[in-house]
Amino acid sequence: MRCPICKREVAFPDPQIPFCSERCRLIDLGNWAAEKYVISVPAVPEVEPPEERKEGNGP
Ligand SMILES: [Zn+2]
Repeated sequence: MRCPICKREVAFPDPQIPFCSERCRLIDLGNWAAEKYVISVPAVPEVEPPEERKEGNGP
């Protein structure tokens, strides 16, 4: 079995299978999370601040 991230051989009784190490597992998780983030961009409505009008500012 090979690690899908770095293509290194993984010793079979490995708790990180199919990854060779926790580092590669986190890299894969990061890739997955990044893809998900791209798909679901948080839709933040653009709220314009109310225009402040200064009236009676004369002397
Ligand atoms: Zn690896």
